[in-house]
Amino acid sequence: MRIAFFSTKSYDRTYMNQVNEEFDHDISYFDTGLRPSTAVLAQDHKTVCIFVNDQADAETLEALKDQGVELLALRSAGFNHVDVAKADELGIRIVRVPAYSPYAVAEHALAMILTLNRKTHLAYSRVRDGNFSLERLTGFDLRDKTVGVIGTGVIGQVFAHIMMGVGCRVIAYDPRLNEDLQKKVEFVDLPELFSQSDIISLHCPLTKETHYIINEGAVNQMKDGVMLINTSRGGLVDTKAVIQGLKHQKIGYFGLDVYEQEENIFFEDLSGAIIQDDMITRLMTFPNVLITSHQAFFTQEAMTKIAKTTLQNTRDFEEGKELENEVVYSDK
Ligand code: NAD
Repeated sequence: MRIAFFSTKSYDRTYMNQVNEEFDHDISYFDTGLRPSTAVLAQDHKTVCIFVNDQADAETLEALKDQGVELLALRSAGFNHVDVAKADELGIRIVRVPAYSPYAVAEHALAMILTLNRKTHLAYSRVRDGNFSLERLTGFDLRDKTVGVIGTGVIGQVFAHIMMGVGCRVIAYDPRLNEDLQKKVEFVDLPELFSQSDIISLHCPLTKETHYIINEGAVNQMKDGVMLINTSRGGLVDTKAVIQGLKHQKIGYFGLDVYEQEENIFFEDLSGAIIQDDMITRLMTFPNVLITSHQAFFTQEAMTKIAKTTLQNTRDFEEGKELENEVVYSDK
């Protein structure tokens, strides 16, 4: 099957090429992201493969349809960037990689917590400068702290277990019941989670309901000095409200791997550019904010699994098999 890969970096090509030795798809790699104006590159490819910051809105999907595209293969679990209803109307099927490594994302959330808490990033730079002072490096024991997990799906569950492993009390909110986890974790409503948690970590998808789940009202309900971690999707957090929370020292720490306007920033080397996004530049000035560039998924294991599942999804489509990882428009 001919596949057009958009938004590819060297690391995408490395893992895809390795795994493709067993699939033998005919792959075209494009550095550029998928947009209405770049959809023409998909000409003569039945499958288009995209990542989280590619555009798959109605206009782009129509442009893909014009090029004869039949399958949209997402190299991600989340599909909030795809107009699923429009794809359904156009007869473009969608497949995704529902779970590649929940450990990768959950462990990255832990890395962010430990870095923000124990300030190892500051210590690293200091020591390299010959500064061995401990001033302003005080952290806190994680043991016995309350961690609030919003969304206890695949990643949220792994994260909850990790935090219980370091002696935290874990509470959670998820509209879907999880009988297994309920034996170990207390499920509470959101206001209770906000008011009880020392650390809040987001692991729910971005939907109409969860958009800005962390807004001014939520921040006001939180404990003074709370640590907020977002490795899920940028749109879950009203960044302006969090910046206010940081300025008023209501929020004590903010770790973000995702950002609501990350599309034109993350994954790119902008070190020589003037960054036009004033919210991210403001966030970059806080000593208690840690930003990573949507890298929570980025482990060898996850990259291999993403490649395997994507190429298998495409083969299943080519062979007319049932699509195990299909994203189905449910509002029909
Ligand atoms: P999942 O579908 O297994 O779990 C999501 C959970 O969120 C479900 O249990 C669902 O019931 C719950 N949920 C839905 N609406 C909710 C709400 N209003 N409040 C609280 N919980 C709600 O998904 P997952 O594999 O655990 O992934 C979670 C999210 O992590 C994805 O949606 C994606 O956005 C993000 N993610 C980020 C990266 C990264 O690299 N940063 C990588 C993979 C996934």
